[in-house]
Amino acid sequence: MEILNSPWPNPSQPTLSRKLPILELRGTGGSFSVDPDTGLRMYVCGITPYDATHLGHAATYLTFDLINRYHRLIGKSVHFVENITDIDEPLLERARRDFTDWQSLAQKETDLFTEDMSALRTFAPDWFVPATQAMDLVDKAITAMDAHGFVYKLEGDLYFRTSSFLSELPYSVDESIAIFAERGGDPERVGKEHPLDSVLWISNRDDEPGWESSHGYGRPGWHIECAVISLRYLVGPDFIEGDSTRSALIDIQGGGSDLIFPHHFMSAIQVRAMTGQRFARGYVHTGMIGLNGEKMSKSKGNLVFVSKLLAAGVDPMVIRYALLKEHYSKDRMWTDSLLAEAQTDVLRIREALSRNEVAATEETIAQVIGAIGNDLDTSSAINAILDWVNRTESGGVGGSTGQMSRALDSILGLAF
Ligand code: ZN
Repeated sequence: MEILNSPWPNPSQPTLSRKLPILELRGTGGSFSVDPDTGLRMYVCGITPYDATHLGHAATYLTFDLINRYHRLIGKSVHFVENITDIDEPLLERARRDFTDWQSLAQKETDLFTEDMSALRTFAPDWFVPATQAMDLVDKAITAMDAHGFVYKLEGDLYFRTSSFLSELPYSVDESIAIFAERGGDPERVGKEHPLDSVLWISNRDDEPGWESSHGYGRPGWHIECAVISLRYLVGPDFIEGDSTRSALIDIQGGGSDLIFPHHFMSAIQVRAMTGQRFARGYVHTGMIGLNGEKMSKSKGNLVFVSKLLAAGVDPMVIRYALLKEHYSKDRMWTDSLLAEAQTDVLRIREALSRNEVAATEETIAQVIGAIGNDLDTSSAINAILDWVNRTESGGVGGSTGQMSRALDSILGLAF
């Protein structure tokens, strides 16, 4: 797969004739806002392309799309990078199961992902980078970490020494070990210096794809891939030198809440080990989407795919609206009634926007901006919009439908 610059066309974003306050985010590990004098450097962990985009992915990427939109409206430059984990165990497993080769599977699912993201009116990343195109970056990063004493070898594989960062774990050591085991880690492997040490370079196994590197033939671990891709494309080719003009190398690292540990923790400490600098100013994590009361997961076989909903004729703006109905940080359920309610709400909003006379819009737009500026409170924003619909349906006058539809589109990406 290739490195892609803006992999799908950006949606249009109408301008707003008002000043927006700085966006406050209550991230994992503390509140933060992006420095108003600098542009936004945002890295969002991308998909492992062995399956289509499900609603959990969509909810995550819509959240970061709101952050992106908001900063564009403030007039700041936005640098947004996303990776594609196009070499990983789940992808190889799925390719073996389906008697297909892992490259064509990755390409097919990535193409589907870009179509889904485009249909949902999300801004494309400036750089969309497959892990298979980051081998030289990983090589360089491991060399730098090794020079600082953070790397050791175990039966040909290279491990990162986590011991000096244990006091920063988001959970207790025992809890961390349990979560590490559940999420792809190998705490039980004999010979490791500490159970929480994570693999940087996996030496080649029989029949598995591999790459030449100065650390042997093999493939990288997952955490180091995101660390180097974010730095190379947000900081620059000399990323090992860091960037002393900033208190952290990037502004936001984001993804689903299942990435808090180990993935984001490991990426951050590996960046510190190679550059000596703090990685991200803030971390934003999105809640998990369940289905009808159950956790949505590939093992349960109950994933709801965006492409399937679209193929069944569901309006992408209804999907977007339904996913924005509650706050991004909440674990929440996708249900038939959520979809039905979203369809009804969208119909009512469209109907209100097609009237000649509508209730006053100025204050509603101010409420929407205020809500989104306050940690992307989409739930309050949508309540304000529905309140305006109610007032319009009851004969309210004095508003501008043009103003309202431009605001919904530019702030929330809801084009009605
Ligand atoms: Zn990642």
